[in-house]
Amino acid sequence: MISAVLQTSFLGDMVLTTPLLERLAGEGLVHVVATPANAAVLANHPAVASVIVFDKRGADRGIGGLRRVAARLAATGAQRAFLAQGSSRTAALAWLARIPERVTFDTSGGQWLTTRRVPYDRTQHHAVRLWQLANAPGDRTVPTALRPSLYPGGTENAAVDTLLAAHGVSEQERLIALAPGSVWATKRWPSYADLAAALVRSHTYASTRLVILGAAGDAPLAAAIVQAATAARPDAPPPIDATGKLSLLGSAALLARCAVLVTNDSAPLHLASAMNTPTVAIFGPTIPAFGFGPLAERARILGRETLPCRPCHAHGPMQCPMGHWRCMRELTATDVVAGVAGVVG
Ligand code: SF4
Repeated sequence: MISAVLQTSFLGDMVLTTPLLERLAGEGLVHVVATPANAAVLANHPAVASVIVFDKRGADRGIGGLRRVAARLAATGAQRAFLAQGSSRTAALAWLARIPERVTFDTSGGQWLTTRRVPYDRTQHHAVRLWQLANAPGDRTVPTALRPSLYPGGTENAAVDTLLAAHGVSEQERLIALAPGSVWATKRWPSYADLAAALVRSHTYASTRLVILGAAGDAPLAAAIVQAATAARPDAPPPIDATGKLSLLGSAALLARCAVLVTNDSAPLHLASAMNTPTVAIFGPTIPAFGFGPLAERARILGRETLPCRPCHAHGPMQCPMGHWRCMRELTATDVVAGVAGVVG
């Protein structure tokens, strides 16, 4: 059975789709429709036969682009399509490709273009929900354990080797990763610089190097962290600013070498889950019950659980609607240091 999986959402969603890809690969070839950015993280993945890039906001915009991508999808010979993103556009894509079986969630757009709807189970992790798309009709099976997977290759590992060598990182040094960014402003915990200062001052983390992960746009956040850590311990090697210096799969390769990642509710959290890197996840306006918590074996979730305004948004608003932003401001560096100790000792 040849399958197609259509996932053109955010990076985290793509990573969380990998257990579904692995499940389907046990039954035949799996072709994936992905955005240009997300296509790159599927490189080397053994469950993926091919990736069809759908640049829905660029080269493949409009009906002409949809038809072009549909033709490429049809050429795979897929007999069934799983609409992991759940938009009308991806439903139209599978329909235009004339894939006989088209499966989506019962909450998704474009249902009239599909042939089967699967319940969107809000009690489950999103990776589980996606995995359940392949359940037979009426089957509500839940996997016992699930973790996403990524496969950084030689190129990505060489880039990490080069980065670490350039900063003189020794074999003995333990790496602690910090990922201070997020697309949504209220999801950016504001005390990473305080955390970095606390970690470099602590004897517990004496032979530890901090490394800051993120996109190029996160460089100002990284600069503030480097400045705070350097001011706290001028005699220690400064943190490594890796923002914008590695590909997404390169970031995964780096995370595989880290003792722990401290992150907001954002894409690096899911990269760490895929690499089974111990994770401290900071949730503010969103909550893990939405289905996007860490899946690494060792993880701590931090958040102001009793705050009555929380959660306030599915993704996280750009500004706090209450104006006080207590969900993030009231989480201290001391709280997070305790979280780090909880996963790495
Ligand atoms: S309303 Fe509450 S949960 Fe939402 S951003 Fe503000 S403090 Fe956080």
